[in-house]
Amino acid sequence: MNYIEYKKNTLNIENISIVDIASKNSTPFYCYSNNHIVDQYNKFSKSLEKIDHKIFYAVKANSNQSILKILANLGAGMDVVSGGELSRALKAGVKGSDIIYSGVGKTDEEISYAIESKVSCLNVESESELHTINQIASESKTKANISIRVNPDVDAKTHVKITTGKAENKFGIEFNDSARIYKLASSLKNINITGVSIHIGSQITSLEPFKKAFLIIRDLVSQLRNDGHTIDHIDLGGGLGIAYHENETPPSINDYGKLVSSIFEGVGAQIYLEPGRFIIGNSGLLITKVINVKTTPQKSFIIVDAGMNDFIRPTLYGAYHETLPVIDNLGTSSKRYDVVGPVCETGDFFAKNRKMNFVKKGSLIAIKSVGAYGTVQSSNYNSRPIVAEILVNKGQYEIIRHAQKIDDLINLDTVATWLDN
Ligand SMILES: *Cc1c(COP(=O)(O)O)cnc(C)c1O
Repeated sequence: MNYIEYKKNTLNIENISIVDIASKNSTPFYCYSNNHIVDQYNKFSKSLEKIDHKIFYAVKANSNQSILKILANLGAGMDVVSGGELSRALKAGVKGSDIIYSGVGKTDEEISYAIESKVSCLNVESESELHTINQIASESKTKANISIRVNPDVDAKTHVKITTGKAENKFGIEFNDSARIYKLASSLKNINITGVSIHIGSQITSLEPFKKAFLIIRDLVSQLRNDGHTIDHIDLGGGLGIAYHENETPPSINDYGKLVSSIFEGVGAQIYLEPGRFIIGNSGLLITKVINVKTTPQKSFIIVDAGMNDFIRPTLYGAYHETLPVIDNLGTSSKRYDVVGPVCETGDFFAKNRKMNFVKKGSLIAIKSVGAYGTVQSSNYNSRPIVAEILVNKGQYEIIRHAQKIDDLINLDTVATWLDN
Protein backbone atom coordinates (compact mmCIF):
# COMPACT_ATOMS: atom_id res chain seq x y z
CA MET A 1 0.00 0.00 0.00
CA ASN A 2 1.06 3.55 -0.70
CA TYR A 3 1.00 5.56 2.49
CA ILE A 4 2.47 8.71 0.96
CA GLU A 5 0.24 10.14 -1.77
CA TYR A 6 -1.41 13.27 -3.08
CA LYS A 7 -5.04 13.92 -2.22
CA LYS A 8 -6.58 16.94 -3.96
CA ASN A 9 -3.14 18.34 -4.81
CA THR A 10 -1.92 18.00 -1.24
CA LEU A 11 0.63 15.47 -0.10
CA ASN A 12 -0.67 13.13 2.62
CA ILE A 13 1.01 10.59 4.82
CA GLU A 14 -1.30 7.90 6.20
CA ASN A 15 -4.29 10.12 5.43
CA ILE A 16 -3.00 13.18 7.22
CA SER A 17 -2.22 16.26 5.20
CA ILE A 18 1.38 17.36 5.55
CA VAL A 19 0.02 20.91 5.60
CA ASP A 20 -1.87 20.10 8.80
CA ILE A 21 1.22 18.65 10.46
CA ALA A 22 3.29 21.63 9.36
CA SER A 23 0.72 24.07 10.69
CA LYS A 24 1.42 22.81 14.22
CA ASN A 25 5.11 21.92 13.95
CA SER A 26 7.89 24.12 12.73
CA THR A 27 9.93 23.09 9.73
CA PRO A 28 12.13 21.33 8.98
CA PHE A 29 10.96 18.03 10.45
CA TYR A 30 11.11 14.36 9.57
CA CYS A 31 7.91 12.33 9.44
CA TYR A 32 7.50 8.60 9.02
CA SER A 33 4.67 6.24 8.14
CA ASN A 34 4.34 3.64 10.90
CA ASN A 35 2.47 1.24 8.63
CA HIS A 36 4.97 1.44 5.79
CA ILE A 37 7.57 0.14 8.22
CA VAL A 38 5.26 -2.63 9.40
CA ASP A 39 4.48 -3.64 5.80
CA GLN A 40 8.13 -3.71 4.79
CA TYR A 41 9.07 -5.89 7.75
CA ASN A 42 6.20 -8.26 7.07
CA LYS A 43 7.05 -8.51 3.36
CA PHE A 44 10.66 -9.21 4.19
CA SER A 45 9.77 -11.91 6.67
CA LYS A 46 7.14 -13.46 4.41
CA SER A 47 9.59 -13.75 1.53
CA LEU A 48 11.68 -16.05 3.73
CA GLU A 49 8.85 -18.12 5.18
CA LYS A 50 10.21 -21.32 3.64
CA ILE A 51 13.38 -21.23 5.69
CA ASP A 52 14.28 -20.91 9.37
CA HIS A 53 15.28 -17.26 9.65
CA LYS A 54 15.52 -14.32 11.99
CA ILE A 55 15.56 -10.64 11.12
CA PHE A 56 17.85 -8.26 13.00
CA TYR A 57 16.96 -4.69 12.05
CA ALA A 58 20.09 -2.60 11.38
CA VAL A 59 19.70 0.08 14.04
CA LYS A 60 22.10 2.46 12.32
CA ALA A 61 19.54 3.14 9.57
CA ASN A 62 17.25 4.88 12.07
CA SER A 63 17.64 4.44 15.80
CA ASN A 64 14.66 6.34 17.22
CA GLN A 65 13.08 4.56 20.20
CA SER A 66 9.66 4.47 18.55
CA ILE A 67 11.09 2.98 15.37
CA LEU A 68 12.89 0.29 17.36
CA LYS A 69 9.65 -0.40 19.26
CA ILE A 70 7.66 -0.87 16.05
CA LEU A 71 10.16 -3.50 14.93
CA ALA A 72 10.65 -5.16 18.31
CA ASN A 73 6.87 -5.50 18.60
CA LEU A 74 6.91 -7.38 15.28
CA GLY A 75 9.51 -9.79 16.62
CA ALA A 76 12.65 -8.31 15.09
CA GLY A 77 16.01 -8.56 16.75
CA MET A 78 18.49 -5.71 16.38
CA ASP A 79 21.89 -5.41 14.72
CA VAL A 80 23.99 -2.75 16.47
CA VAL A 81 27.39 -1.28 15.60
CA SER A 82 28.23 0.79 18.69
CA GLY A 83 27.75 0.93 22.44
CA GLY A 84 25.31 3.78 21.88
CA GLU A 85 23.18 1.68 19.56
CA LEU A 86 23.31 -1.20 22.03
CA SER A 87 21.98 1.15 24.74
CA ARG A 88 19.21 2.29 22.44
CA ALA A 89 18.17 -1.28 21.61
CA LEU A 90 18.17 -2.35 25.27
CA LYS A 91 16.27 0.80 26.25
CA ALA A 92 13.62 -0.04 23.65
CA GLY A 93 13.11 -3.32 25.50
CA VAL A 94 15.03 -5.61 23.17
CA LYS A 95 16.70 -8.46 25.04
CA GLY A 96 20.44 -8.98 24.71
CA SER A 97 19.71 -12.40 23.28
CA ASP A 98 17.96 -10.70 20.36
CA ILE A 99 20.89 -8.40 19.59
CA ILE A 100 23.86 -8.90 17.28
CA TYR A 101 26.90 -6.70 17.78
CA SER A 102 28.69 -5.84 14.51
CA GLY A 103 31.14 -3.04 13.88
CA VAL A 104 34.63 -2.72 12.49
CA GLY A 105 36.16 -0.97 15.50
CA LYS A 106 34.84 -2.13 18.85
CA THR A 107 36.51 -0.56 21.87
CA ASP A 108 37.31 -2.68 24.92
CA GLU A 109 34.52 -0.86 26.79
CA GLU A 110 32.05 -1.69 24.04
CA ILE A 111 33.08 -5.34 24.01
CA SER A 112 32.63 -5.53 27.81
CA TYR A 113 29.25 -3.87 27.54
CA ALA A 114 28.16 -6.29 24.81
CA ILE A 115 29.29 -9.30 26.84
CA GLU A 116 27.63 -7.98 30.03
CA SER A 117 24.43 -7.42 28.05
CA LYS A 118 24.61 -11.07 26.93
CA VAL A 119 24.22 -10.21 23.26
CA SER A 120 23.43 -13.20 21.12
CA CYS A 121 26.56 -12.84 18.99
CA LEU A 122 29.55 -10.60 18.39
CA ASN A 123 30.57 -10.43 14.74
CA VAL A 124 34.36 -10.49 14.78
CA GLU A 125 36.19 -8.31 12.29
CA SER A 126 39.86 -9.19 12.86
CA GLU A 127 42.24 -11.65 14.47
CA SER A 128 43.33 -9.16 17.11
CA GLU A 129 39.73 -8.38 17.97
CA LEU A 130 39.14 -12.10 18.49
CA HIS A 131 41.94 -12.16 21.08
CA THR A 132 40.56 -9.06 22.79
CA ILE A 133 37.08 -10.57 23.02
CA ASN A 134 38.55 -13.78 24.43
CA GLN A 135 40.49 -11.80 27.03
CA ILE A 136 37.52 -9.69 28.11
CA ALA A 137 35.22 -12.72 28.27
CA SER A 138 37.80 -14.49 30.40
CA GLU A 139 37.93 -11.55 32.83
CA SER A 140 34.13 -11.75 33.09
CA LYS A 141 34.38 -15.54 33.58
CA THR A 142 32.13 -16.23 30.64
CA LYS A 143 32.21 -17.37 27.04
CA ALA A 144 31.44 -14.94 24.23
CA ASN A 145 29.33 -16.15 21.31
CA ILE A 146 30.96 -15.10 18.09
CA SER A 147 30.73 -15.36 14.37
CA ILE A 148 33.50 -14.31 12.04
CA ARG A 149 32.65 -11.65 9.52
CA VAL A 150 34.17 -12.95 6.34
CA ASN A 151 34.91 -10.63 3.47
CA PRO A 152 33.91 -12.61 0.35
CA ASP A 153 35.60 -10.17 -2.07
CA VAL A 154 32.44 -9.54 -4.06
CA ASP A 155 31.74 -6.20 -5.72
CA ALA A 156 28.29 -5.07 -4.58
CA LYS A 157 28.20 -2.60 -7.51
CA THR A 158 26.86 0.16 -5.32
CA HIS A 159 28.26 3.57 -4.34
CA VAL A 160 31.94 3.30 -3.39
CA LYS A 161 31.26 4.74 0.07
CA ILE A 162 28.85 1.91 0.90
CA THR A 163 30.65 -1.03 -0.70
CA THR A 164 31.95 -3.20 2.13
CA GLY A 165 32.60 -6.68 0.76
CA LYS A 166 35.60 -6.16 -1.49
CA ALA A 167 39.04 -7.33 -0.44
CA GLU A 168 40.33 -3.75 -0.28
CA ASN A 169 37.58 -2.63 2.16
CA LYS A 170 38.27 -2.37 5.88
CA PHE A 171 35.54 -4.84 6.81
CA GLY A 172 35.80 -8.44 7.87
CA ILE A 173 38.43 -11.13 7.65
CA GLU A 174 40.03 -11.97 4.35
CA PHE A 175 38.30 -14.94 2.82
CA ASN A 176 41.46 -17.01 2.37
CA ASP A 177 42.28 -16.55 6.02
CA SER A 178 38.90 -17.61 7.39
CA ALA A 179 39.69 -21.32 7.93
CA ARG A 180 42.76 -20.40 9.98
CA ILE A 181 40.86 -17.82 12.06
CA TYR A 182 38.06 -20.31 12.81
CA LYS A 183 40.68 -22.82 13.94
CA LEU A 184 42.22 -20.19 16.16
CA ALA A 185 38.79 -19.22 17.55
CA SER A 186 38.03 -22.83 18.41
CA SER A 187 41.25 -23.00 20.42
CA LEU A 188 40.37 -19.99 22.58
CA LYS A 189 38.84 -20.92 25.93
CA ASN A 190 36.38 -18.06 26.26
CA ILE A 191 35.14 -18.05 22.70
CA ASN A 192 32.12 -19.97 21.51
CA ILE A 193 31.74 -20.13 17.73
CA THR A 194 28.07 -19.99 16.72
CA GLY A 195 28.06 -18.89 13.11
CA VAL A 196 29.49 -17.00 10.19
CA SER A 197 28.58 -13.60 8.80
CA ILE A 198 28.92 -11.37 5.74
CA HIS A 199 27.66 -7.95 4.73
CA ILE A 200 28.75 -6.85 1.27
CA GLY A 201 27.32 -3.34 1.09
CA SER A 202 24.25 -1.18 1.02
CA GLN A 203 21.72 -0.01 -1.60
CA ILE A 204 22.45 -3.05 -3.76
CA THR A 205 20.19 -2.95 -6.80
CA SER A 206 20.76 -6.31 -8.46
CA LEU A 207 20.67 -9.87 -7.17
CA GLU A 208 23.95 -10.89 -8.80
CA PRO A 209 26.34 -9.72 -6.05
CA PHE A 210 24.12 -11.30 -3.39
CA LYS A 211 24.07 -14.59 -5.27
CA LYS A 212 27.84 -14.64 -5.63
CA ALA A 213 28.41 -13.88 -1.96
CA PHE A 214 25.74 -16.33 -0.74
CA LEU A 215 27.22 -19.21 -2.76
CA ILE A 216 30.68 -18.41 -1.43
CA ILE A 217 29.45 -18.44 2.14
CA ARG A 218 27.46 -21.64 1.67
CA ASP A 219 30.61 -23.41 0.49
CA LEU A 220 32.54 -21.93 3.37
CA VAL A 221 30.00 -23.31 5.83
CA SER A 222 30.52 -26.83 4.47
CA GLN A 223 34.25 -26.40 4.74
CA LEU A 224 34.05 -25.07 8.30
CA ARG A 225 31.81 -27.96 9.32
CA ASN A 226 34.25 -30.41 7.77
CA ASP A 227 36.91 -28.76 9.90
CA GLY A 228 34.77 -29.61 12.95
CA HIS A 229 33.22 -26.22 13.71
CA THR A 230 29.61 -25.78 14.74
CA ILE A 231 27.77 -23.31 12.53
CA ASP A 232 24.28 -22.72 13.91
CA HIS A 233 23.56 -19.55 12.04
CA ILE A 234 24.56 -17.86 8.81
CA ASP A 235 24.29 -14.08 8.89
CA LEU A 236 23.80 -12.64 5.41
CA GLY A 237 23.91 -8.98 6.47
CA GLY A 238 21.70 -6.31 4.93
CA GLY A 239 22.00 -4.29 1.78
CA LEU A 240 18.86 -4.84 -0.28
CA GLY A 241 18.28 -1.61 -2.19
CA ILE A 242 15.13 0.48 -2.56
CA ALA A 243 13.82 2.72 -5.33
CA TYR A 244 14.75 6.34 -4.77
CA HIS A 245 13.61 7.29 -8.25
CA GLU A 246 10.46 5.98 -9.89
CA ASN A 247 12.55 4.60 -12.77
CA GLU A 248 14.72 2.49 -10.48
CA THR A 249 13.99 -1.20 -10.27
CA PRO A 250 15.79 -2.85 -7.37
CA PRO A 251 15.16 -6.58 -6.99
CA SER A 252 11.71 -7.39 -5.64
CA ILE A 253 11.64 -8.66 -2.10
CA ASN A 254 10.11 -11.90 -3.34
CA ASP A 255 12.99 -12.53 -5.73
CA TYR A 256 15.46 -11.77 -2.97
CA GLY A 257 13.62 -14.15 -0.62
CA LYS A 258 13.57 -16.84 -3.30
CA LEU A 259 17.30 -16.49 -3.86
CA VAL A 260 18.09 -16.76 -0.16
CA SER A 261 15.71 -19.70 0.26
CA SER A 262 16.98 -21.59 -2.78
CA ILE A 263 20.58 -21.29 -1.64
CA PHE A 264 20.08 -21.99 2.05
CA GLU A 265 17.07 -24.30 2.25
CA GLY A 266 18.15 -27.44 4.08
CA VAL A 267 21.51 -26.02 5.16
CA GLY A 268 20.74 -26.83 8.78
CA ALA A 269 21.42 -23.38 10.17
CA GLN A 270 19.22 -20.43 11.04
CA ILE A 271 19.58 -17.65 8.46
CA TYR A 272 20.06 -14.19 9.93
CA LEU A 273 19.26 -11.08 7.91
CA GLU A 274 20.14 -7.50 8.83
CA PRO A 275 18.03 -5.19 6.67
CA GLY A 276 17.98 -1.48 7.46
CA ARG A 277 17.24 0.65 4.41
CA PHE A 278 14.68 -1.77 2.98
CA ILE A 279 12.63 -1.60 6.17
CA ILE A 280 12.56 2.13 6.72
CA GLY A 281 14.01 4.04 3.74
CA ASN A 282 10.80 4.83 1.92
CA SER A 283 8.74 5.43 5.05
CA GLY A 284 10.08 8.91 5.64
CA LEU A 285 9.79 12.48 4.38
CA LEU A 286 11.81 15.52 5.32
CA ILE A 287 9.48 18.50 5.27
CA THR A 288 11.11 21.83 4.61
CA LYS A 289 9.90 25.33 3.80
CA VAL A 290 11.02 27.52 0.93
CA ILE A 291 12.92 30.53 2.25
CA ASN A 292 13.47 32.10 -1.11
CA VAL A 293 13.44 31.39 -4.83
CA LYS A 294 16.45 33.01 -6.41
CA THR A 295 17.03 33.28 -10.12
CA THR A 296 20.37 34.19 -11.59
CA PRO A 297 21.07 34.41 -15.34
CA GLN A 298 22.53 30.88 -15.19
CA LYS A 299 20.31 29.13 -12.71
CA SER A 300 17.28 29.06 -10.47
CA PHE A 301 17.72 28.12 -6.85
CA ILE A 302 15.06 27.08 -4.40
CA ILE A 303 16.56 27.85 -0.99
CA VAL A 304 14.90 25.84 1.76
CA ASP A 305 15.16 25.84 5.55
CA ALA A 306 16.63 22.31 5.79
CA GLY A 307 20.33 21.89 5.19
CA MET A 308 22.99 19.25 4.65
CA ASN A 309 23.36 19.05 8.44
CA ASP A 310 19.77 17.73 8.57
CA PHE A 311 20.13 15.39 5.62
CA ILE A 312 23.49 14.68 4.05
CA ARG A 313 22.87 11.83 1.60
CA PRO A 314 22.87 14.03 -1.55
CA THR A 315 26.13 15.64 -0.45
CA LEU A 316 27.80 12.51 0.85
CA TYR A 317 26.79 9.98 -1.79
CA GLY A 318 25.50 12.14 -4.62
CA ALA A 319 22.21 10.44 -3.82
CA TYR A 320 19.06 11.22 -5.78
CA HIS A 321 16.00 12.12 -3.71
CA GLU A 322 12.69 13.26 -5.11
CA THR A 323 11.63 16.73 -4.03
CA LEU A 324 7.88 17.29 -4.14
CA PRO A 325 5.81 20.42 -3.60
CA VAL A 326 3.52 19.59 -0.66
CA ILE A 327 0.75 21.63 -2.28
CA ASP A 328 0.93 21.11 -6.01
CA ASN A 329 -1.39 23.78 -7.40
CA LEU A 330 0.88 26.45 -8.84
CA GLY A 331 1.14 24.73 -12.18
CA THR A 332 3.88 23.10 -14.19
CA SER A 333 7.20 24.82 -14.53
CA SER A 334 9.46 24.27 -17.50
CA LYS A 335 12.39 25.59 -15.47
CA ARG A 336 14.99 23.49 -13.79
CA TYR A 337 15.98 24.20 -10.24
CA ASP A 338 18.66 23.42 -7.72
CA VAL A 339 17.09 22.81 -4.33
CA VAL A 340 19.65 23.98 -1.79
CA GLY A 341 19.96 24.59 1.95
CA PRO A 342 21.15 27.61 3.90
CA VAL A 343 24.42 26.08 5.13
CA CYS A 344 27.59 27.86 4.06
CA GLU A 345 28.85 25.08 1.79
CA THR A 346 28.47 24.70 -1.95
CA GLY A 347 27.84 21.02 -1.25
CA ASP A 348 24.68 21.91 0.65
CA PHE A 349 22.05 20.74 -1.81
CA PHE A 350 19.16 18.28 -2.09
CA ALA A 351 18.54 18.29 -5.83
CA LYS A 352 20.33 19.61 -8.88
CA ASN A 353 18.97 20.73 -12.20
CA ARG A 354 15.62 19.27 -11.28
CA LYS A 355 12.35 19.76 -13.12
CA MET A 356 9.86 20.75 -10.50
CA ASN A 357 6.44 22.31 -10.39
CA PHE A 358 6.29 25.92 -9.22
CA VAL A 359 6.88 26.76 -5.59
CA LYS A 360 7.29 30.15 -3.95
CA LYS A 361 8.51 31.61 -0.68
CA GLY A 362 6.68 29.86 2.14
CA SER A 363 5.78 26.74 0.10
CA LEU A 364 6.45 23.38 1.72
CA ILE A 365 8.65 20.82 -0.01
CA ALA A 366 8.84 17.14 0.88
CA ILE A 367 12.16 15.37 0.33
CA LYS A 368 11.34 11.70 -0.22
CA SER A 369 12.85 8.41 0.89
CA VAL A 370 14.71 9.84 3.88
CA GLY A 371 13.72 7.24 6.49
CA ALA A 372 17.06 5.42 6.41
CA TYR A 373 20.40 7.15 6.96
CA GLY A 374 18.61 10.49 7.30
CA THR A 375 18.24 11.88 10.78
CA VAL A 376 20.90 9.49 12.13
CA GLN A 377 23.53 11.30 10.08
CA SER A 378 22.43 14.79 11.05
CA SER A 379 24.78 17.19 12.79
CA ASN A 380 24.84 20.61 14.40
CA TYR A 381 26.96 22.28 11.71
CA ASN A 382 26.31 26.01 11.44
CA SER A 383 24.84 25.75 14.98
CA ARG A 384 21.67 24.30 13.59
CA PRO A 385 19.71 22.28 16.17
CA ILE A 386 18.70 18.69 15.26
CA VAL A 387 15.14 18.73 13.93
CA ALA A 388 12.04 16.93 15.22
CA GLU A 389 10.80 13.51 14.13
CA ILE A 390 7.12 12.69 13.84
CA LEU A 391 5.50 9.29 13.52
CA VAL A 392 2.20 8.98 11.69
CA ASN A 393 -0.16 6.07 12.24
CA LYS A 394 -3.59 5.75 10.61
CA GLY A 395 -4.73 9.33 10.77
CA GLN A 396 -2.95 10.32 13.96
CA TYR A 397 0.57 11.47 14.69
CA GLU A 398 2.95 12.08 17.57
CA ILE A 399 6.31 13.71 17.97
CA ILE A 400 8.86 10.94 18.56
CA ARG A 401 11.82 13.22 18.93
CA HIS A 402 11.70 16.82 20.01
CA ALA A 403 13.77 19.33 18.10
CA GLN A 404 16.86 20.53 19.93
CA LYS A 405 16.89 24.12 21.08
CA ILE A 406 19.89 26.31 20.49
CA ASP A 407 20.48 26.49 24.25
CA ASP A 408 20.79 22.68 24.34
CA LEU A 409 23.87 23.11 22.19
CA ILE A 410 25.36 26.21 23.76
CA ASN A 411 24.97 24.85 27.27
CA LEU A 412 27.36 21.99 26.50
CA ASP A 413 30.15 24.53 26.02
CA THR A 414 31.99 25.98 28.98
CA VAL A 415 34.20 29.02 29.10
CA ALA A 416 37.69 28.17 30.35
CA THR A 417 38.22 29.64 33.81
CA TRP A 418 41.01 31.93 32.65
CA LEU A 419 38.70 33.51 30.11
CA ASP A 420 35.77 34.02 32.44
CA ASN A 421 35.89 37.61 33.63
C1 LIG B 1 24.74 -1.06 7.51
C2 LIG B 1 24.68 -2.49 7.83
C3 LIG B 1 23.51 -3.21 7.60
C4 LIG B 1 22.27 -2.61 6.97
O1 LIG B 1 22.44 -2.27 5.64
P1 LIG B 1 21.18 -1.80 4.76
O2 LIG B 1 21.76 -1.47 3.46
O3 LIG B 1 20.59 -0.62 5.45
O4 LIG B 1 20.23 -2.94 4.70
C5 LIG B 1 23.48 -4.53 7.97
N1 LIG B 1 24.56 -5.13 8.54
C6 LIG B 1 25.72 -4.47 8.77
C7 LIG B 1 26.85 -5.17 9.39
C8 LIG B 1 25.81 -3.14 8.42
O5 LIG B 1 26.95 -2.48 8.65
